[in-house]
Amino acid sequence: MTEQLYIEHIMPAQKSIALIAHDNKKPDMIEWCQKNKKILEHHFLCGTGTTAKLIATKTGLPIRGFNSGPLGGDQQIGARIVDGKIDLVVFFSDPLTAQPHDPDVKALLRIAQVYDIPIANTMATADFIITSSYMNSAYTHKQLNFRYNIEERVKKL
Ligand code: PGA
Repeated sequence: MTEQLYIEHIMPAQKSIALIAHDNKKPDMIEWCQKNKKILEHHFLCGTGTTAKLIATKTGLPIRGFNSGPLGGDQQIGARIVDGKIDLVVFFSDPLTAQPHDPDVKALLRIAQVYDIPIANTMATADFIITSSYMNSAYTHKQLNFRYNIEERVKKL
């Protein structure tokens, strides 16, 4: 019964956006937030600790800060995706520098994929997403029905 495999999830017009940037990409993140301030101020912002603090200080945008990424901030954002509390992730990761918290970064990318959450990891991708008409309208998408998934697994195992 394929219809039970999925549920419909609605992202509201006012989105919850998580913002994360590795150190070498923080200037890009500030520039992108400044450029898109008029759009971003209509949404709820959160981010990893240092990125969020820099955005608040340099742009004046209100933003909730979680822990710093290497201290679990990426995982906190991942957990909020699982709870259905994040609609979009802008994550300017650094492809040229090894990160101590690489497993956390991979986990965040994976969980965003599992929940079909748009995730921009370059400025161009973020520009395409932020100018999408879905940014100011509700958007319905499919997510795996985890209640059904557990019931089926319990039957089989
Ligand atoms: P930070 O974390 O915003 O605290 O620097 C970002 C990251 O490296 O995940």
